[in-house]
Amino acid sequence: MTQPFVAPRRLLLGPGPSDVHPRVLGALSQPLVGHLDPAFLALMDEVKRRLRSVFRTANELTFAVSGTGSAGMETCLVNLLEEGDEAIVFVNGEFGRRMCDIVERCRARVVAIEIPWGRAVEREDVERALRKTSHPKLVAIVHAETSTGAQSPIADLAPAIARSGALFVLDAVTSLGGCPVEIDAWGVDACYSGTQKCLSCPPGLSPVTFGPRALEAIRRRKRKVQSWYLDVSMIEKYWGAERVYHHTAPISMNYALAEALRVVEEEGLEKRFERHRQNHLAFAAGAEALGFRFVVEPARRLWMLNSVYLPRLADGHDEAKLRRRLLDDYSIEIGGGLGAFKGKIWRVGLMGESSRREKVLRLLEALETILRDAGVEFRPGSAVAAAEAAA
Ligand code: PLP
Repeated sequence: MTQPFVAPRRLLLGPGPSDVHPRVLGALSQPLVGHLDPAFLALMDEVKRRLRSVFRTANELTFAVSGTGSAGMETCLVNLLEEGDEAIVFVNGEFGRRMCDIVERCRARVVAIEIPWGRAVEREDVERALRKTSHPKLVAIVHAETSTGAQSPIADLAPAIARSGALFVLDAVTSLGGCPVEIDAWGVDACYSGTQKCLSCPPGLSPVTFGPRALEAIRRRKRKVQSWYLDVSMIEKYWGAERVYHHTAPISMNYALAEALRVVEEEGLEKRFERHRQNHLAFAAGAEALGFRFVVEPARRLWMLNSVYLPRLADGHDEAKLRRRLLDDYSIEIGGGLGAFKGKIWRVGLMGESSRREKVLRLLEALETILRDAGVEFRPGSAVAAAEAAA
C-alpha cells in the first residue's frame, strides 16, 4: 500500500500562509455536502455575515471568491474595468505591479504611479496623481504591501480619492484581520483579501466586497465581463437570494473560512489587532538587538509583515542558506525578498495564529544560534531579552 503524505510540522512565519487554528483544520475534515444543500447555503450566509463584520461594511455583495487572493484581485478589476477605461494604480511593491498587469489585460489604460519600494503611498502621492490624470474610472492601492512591509495610511488618503469621483479598489490581502480595515468609513468601493494571512485559514478563497457605486458601474457595463468564472453578476445569483448554480463551490474551504471567522469574532477585532501590534514590537526589538535593520520607517511598518535587512554575515554564509537552516533544524519558515529585494531582506510574517508571543521568542532563540554560527556578533540572550522587555 502506498503511504499517505505526512506534512512536516512547521512554524509558518513567512509572508503567508500562516499557522492554522486546530478548529479550522477540524472544519476541513467535516463530511461533504452538496453546494446547494440547505446546510451549506446557511453556512454561506454565515460566511457573508461574518465577512461583513471583519471588512466593517454593510455591503450586501460580500462573499468569498473561489480562488486565492489573486482571484480576488482579478475579480475586482475585471468587473469594474472595460476597454478604454483609465485606472490609476499605485506601485510600491510587487502586488501593485500585478494589478497593472491585470488592468492592461482588461484593455484599460493604466497610469502606474511608481513609488520606491519600502515606502507607503501617502496622501500627497494620491493628490499629485489625481491632478495629473483627467478622469480615472478607478484608483487602486495595496493597503499592506507584503513584498516590502509597508502600510499605506488609507484613512488619510481616501478623502482625495472620494473627491475625484473615481472608484476606490483596495487590496487587503495581508491586512484583513490583523489591523483595521474600514471599508465603509474609508469609502472603499471594492476590496479583496485572502484567507491564508491574518484570517489563518488555508489558501483557497478570496473574501471580496463590492459597494453600491461599484455595483452601479458593473450594471452600466457596455460589454460582458471578459472572465466568465469571475463575473460577479452571475456569482451573486449563487451567493444571493436566487441560489442559482454557477460553479461548484469549494465546500470544505468554506467550512474552514466560516470557522476561522468564528475564531476571529470570539477573540474580537480590537484585541486581535493589539495582539498583532504587540508581537510586532517584540519581534522588532529582538531583531534590532541582533543587528537587523527595518526596511520601512516605524510609523508605516506592518505589524503582520516585518521586512528587515540582514546583519553582515561572515564569508561563506548567505541569507538563503540561513533560511534553509531555520527550516531544516528548527522547522521554522520565514520569507526571502521579492523582486528588487531578492537576496537582500527577510520577510517575517506574524499573521493570525502565527502572531503569538511564544512563536516570536522561539524564532529569536533560533536566530541567535544560526546568526552566531554565521559570524554575527551580539550579546548572547540579548534578542529574547529585548523582545521580552518590549511587549
Ligand atoms: N496581494 C497581496 C498584498 C499579497 O500579499 C498577495 C499574496 O501574498 C496577493 C495579493 C496574492 O494572493 P494569493 O497569493 O493568495 O493569490
